[in-house]
Amino acid sequence: MAFADRMRRTLMGIDGRGVGMSIAVVAFGLILIGVLWSVVWTEERAERDEAAAAAVKQNSNLAVAYEEHVVRTLAGLDSALMVVRQEYRRLGRGLDISRYIEDGIIDERLSSSISITDERGNVVLSNRRMPVANYAELEFFRVHQTRRDRDVLHVGVPVAGRLSDAWQIPLSRPLLKPDGTFGGVVVLSVDPGYFARFYRKIDLGSQGLVLLTGLDGVSRARRVGNQLSFGEDLGDSTLLREQARSEFGSFVSQGSVDNIPRYVSYRTLSGYPLVVAVGASRAEVLADVTRNRNRDYFVASLITMVIFGFTTVLVVAVHRQERAAIKLATSEARFRATFEQAAIGICHSSLERRYIAVNRTFCEMLGYTRQELLGKPVWEVIHHEDRGDEPQFRDKLLSGEIDSHAAEKRYVRKDGQVIWVNRTVSLVRDYTGEPLYFLRLVEDITERKRLEQELQALAATDSLTGLPNRRTFMTRLEEEYARLRRFDTQQVAVLMLDLDYFKRINDTNGHAAGDEVLRQVATLIREEPRRVDLCARLGGEEFAVILAGAAAESAREFAERLRRKIAAAAIVFEGKAIAVTVSIGVAAMRPTDESADASLLRADAALYRAKEAGRNQVRLVEEDAGSAGAAA
Ligand code: GH3
Ligand code: MG
Ligand code: MG
Repeated sequence: MAFADRMRRTLMGIDGRGVGMSIAVVAFGLILIGVLWSVVWTEERAERDEAAAAAVKQNSNLAVAYEEHVVRTLAGLDSALMVVRQEYRRLGRGLDISRYIEDGIIDERLSSSISITDERGNVVLSNRRMPVANYAELEFFRVHQTRRDRDVLHVGVPVAGRLSDAWQIPLSRPLLKPDGTFGGVVVLSVDPGYFARFYRKIDLGSQGLVLLTGLDGVSRARRVGNQLSFGEDLGDSTLLREQARSEFGSFVSQGSVDNIPRYVSYRTLSGYPLVVAVGASRAEVLADVTRNRNRDYFVASLITMVIFGFTTVLVVAVHRQERAAIKLATSEARFRATFEQAAIGICHSSLERRYIAVNRTFCEMLGYTRQELLGKPVWEVIHHEDRGDEPQFRDKLLSGEIDSHAAEKRYVRKDGQVIWVNRTVSLVRDYTGEPLYFLRLVEDITERKRLEQELQALAATDSLTGLPNRRTFMTRLEEEYARLRRFDTQQVAVLMLDLDYFKRINDTNGHAAGDEVLRQVATLIREEPRRVDLCARLGGEEFAVILAGAAAESAREFAERLRRKIAAAAIVFEGKAIAVTVSIGVAAMRPTDESADASLLRADAALYRAKEAGRNQVRLVEEDAGSAGAAA
């Protein structure tokens, strides 16, 4: 449960980190995009302001020059008017008025007509033949008539020529009688294009504006690009509202006349109710800025997409990495659990054969703490007699000759106790095939070994007497036979014993007494002071003895001594003495024997003869007997 909790916490931790990372990446991307666009916008605004400021500055300068030009022109024409008026006063109707234009006193390009009226508007003098000879209804006449007390130059509103389409601006001054009353006007018609064409050589753009207008709201001359117009009503225009606030200045007009926004600079003429204005179309002024802006927006959009793409790729990568980390953590946790909680000892050892990881079972198996084991050479816990094969299988694992190596070995616990283990070693490699570490699975098989040994002992032993059984005897006989064949200087004798009339003992004293007799006889044989190499119960009341290094004769002597000892032994069962004798057949093993049990058969044959001869005696095999007899 604690483990599961820990794992969940680990996974949640990874999850949290991943989400945080994704948010950070997205935030970073958004900040980059935000910075990019604010730089682009700021830059664009600065450029726009700069362009507008430059346009306003240029327009202001042009307006100053335009004002001077208009004032100078008006002043020139005004003085001509005053000269004519002066001469009229002196000469009256006898004045040759045409002379002023013909003689070039008044520039013909500026003005082509000059007239004088009486107080009722009737033209009394003119350089032109006038079809209508009364000006009483005209604007300039009425102005002078109503403001007769003021002797100022009046710049009239433009009027279209009565015969031609040509526009004229009447410039007029009043005539005053000697008594100071209104006596008519002297008027000069001026081509308004002269004012409008000013700055023709300066490029104000196709929508550039040059304007001369009266404070009465009527334009005297207006040029937009190459289009000239006269006499428009500008009463509603922003210009006059701006002018009402300040005599000169700059503003952005919304284009009340032609709907074209402009940067406009204006000046009020000193001494005249007139305003000049110079304007440049905002679209034209900002054309470069707009072009740059479009280019910048395009580039910024591309960069934005790139950042967006990068962010997406990063988020996806973070997400993938997170999933991989979760997967790794899960499998790591699963592995940890398997490793730590396995019932089998598991350890990792370095290529230098030192423990680098050990699980709990392994520690418990050896009685060491984890800290004591880590870094310890692996051979230190192996029983010194079982260390031999370690280097060989290690080389085979490293060379790839074998995948794993299993062996039963003895390990030594910290407390010195020896345990048996079944240990399998394999080599763990990384994905390139480079060896990483050895994996050792160690299973404690001490108990199994003990049972096995017990079983082995049981299988080799006769349960009644505790002597080795026939199988053990035969194995040993084979070994002695093999040794004899190898080194024929060795001598081996075999004895066969059989209790005499044992059936009768059983019958008389009962089977339990018989068993007891068998046990006691076994003890008598086993306790024989001469080194008996093996004595075994072959079955029933038959025993056999192997005497290594004994010649036939000494074996016969041994048998004789044993026979007498048994015959003399006082075997008592339930307070009753039982007399027992044995018959013994003796044979020497020969290197020429075809098999190991040939000698046993010979001993059996000798035993048979001992029985025949009356029992309770020892017999050697015929041939042996011959030689023995000769010796005797
Ligand atoms: P002899 O060898 O002198 O010719 O006579 P014998 O009576 O010993 O004859 P035999 O070898 O034929 O008889 C062996 C008897 O031993 C037969 C069997 O009842 C008895 N016997 C065999 N094994 C055991 C045993 O484990 N316990 C007891 N009590 N008796 C056994
Ligand atoms: Mg028998
Ligand atoms: Mg017998």
